Amino acid sequence: MAKQTRPHFTLGAGYPSMERTARITLRPGREAAALRRHPWVYSGSIRSVEGAAEPGALVTVHDAGGSFIAWGQYSSQSQIRVRLFCWSEDARPHTTEFWRQRLQRAIDLRDSLRRDPLTNAYRLVYAESDGIPGLIVDRYGDALVVQFLTAGADRASVLYTDLLMELTTPRTIYERSDTDVREHEGLGASGGLLRGADPEPITEIVENGLSYLVDIRNGHKTGFYLDQRENRRRFRDLAMAAAPQGEMLNVFSYTGAFTVCGLAAGIASAVNVDASSEALALGRQNIALNRLPVEHVDDVAGDAFEVLRRIRRQGRQFDLIVADPPKFAFTQRDVPRATRGYKDINLQAIHLLKPGGLLFTFSCSGAISEDLFQKIVFGAALDTGRDVQIVGRLTQGCDHPVALTHPEAAYLKGLICRAVS
Ligand code: SAH
Repeated sequence: MAKQTRPHFTLGAGYPSMERTARITLRPGREAAALRRHPWVYSGSIRSVEGAAEPGALVTVHDAGGSFIAWGQYSSQSQIRVRLFCWSEDARPHTTEFWRQRLQRAIDLRDSLRRDPLTNAYRLVYAESDGIPGLIVDRYGDALVVQFLTAGADRASVLYTDLLMELTTPRTIYERSDTDVREHEGLGASGGLLRGADPEPITEIVENGLSYLVDIRNGHKTGFYLDQRENRRRFRDLAMAAAPQGEMLNVFSYTGAFTVCGLAAGIASAVNVDASSEALALGRQNIALNRLPVEHVDDVAGDAFEVLRRIRRQGRQFDLIVADPPKFAFTQRDVPRATRGYKDINLQAIHLLKPGGLLFTFSCSGAISEDLFQKIVFGAALDTGRDVQIVGRLTQGCDHPVALTHPEAAYLKGLICRAVS
């Protein structure tokens, strides 16, 4: 898919019409989820669309009797036909002020992170969780990286960008809407500079007092796995307590952020495994940047499924293992295949633990529930014949909140497992 670059917008250029363009009526009996404030209305629940609903346009949703339920943004292509964001009929979502308040609320909710002198990178806006469907904003120091993931967010992109500029005065706002999920919305990939100065080729950030290099233009997602911030801290604390001078294995290491934490905690050596040699190379720079011993770290570029088997044949074991694979399940259909993938990784990883060693194992697939993930790890442990305990449970950081009305926003889950013997 060709990556498009948005035109460079200027303030006051005007926004696509934010007026309501259509009225959506649900089929009888299909209003329960919307009344419980679940933000997604599926196409099958809709009886009629009155008016010319343009992609991303503002709509109102009504029950079969005509009563107002909520305001939403329309997606003509997606099975999720409307994303609801406001249940108050007299709200004014066609105004700039409404969205200014929404964005300000999201920003204010991260105030403790903003004031944290040891961290300057975190998620500023997390889409439906913050009542702004499809909008992701990640802060990397004075750079904002945004994703417009739905037709509604795409349509309001200039408005959102203007408001982010006004409310946070960043040095740059850069778009990374180059993700496949936009295809469901009938949108292509889009990216590039939206406002301010071009981002540095590499941006330096601080997280929990450690420094990392982030490639905003080409890195994964928006550049860095911000969702693991609290888990990296936990890892560092446990590494310090449980395995000083220990040996660490970081599988699916990306730019080695967990390894930096391990070295900062005083571990003796680490092995990073990742399919991307660019990520591994940036990982080495991250270690050097924190004045930690690069010579104590080995990089293995390759397929983790094979590399772990190779390491096992060598008879090596580790005190600490982190296994943080990419998303294996994108939909419910992928769950059986993903389950096999997670089981294999965990099976190999548990074999590679020294007695008493700790495994931080993750799944970022929303379609794999916490419960299923635990069962997968249980199955893996059983096959190794080792006794394994859960000593901790992990999830995405507090800047990736989950509205109780929208549990689908919870995707990252992890277990801290200990090989008893
Ligand atoms: N824990 C990391 C994030 C890991 S993201 C952090 O804290 O930053 C997942 C990583 O898995 C990516 O870097 C990707 O390049 C890598 N990857 C994907 N498939 C892989 C495979 N089959 N073998 C090894 N690495 C793989």
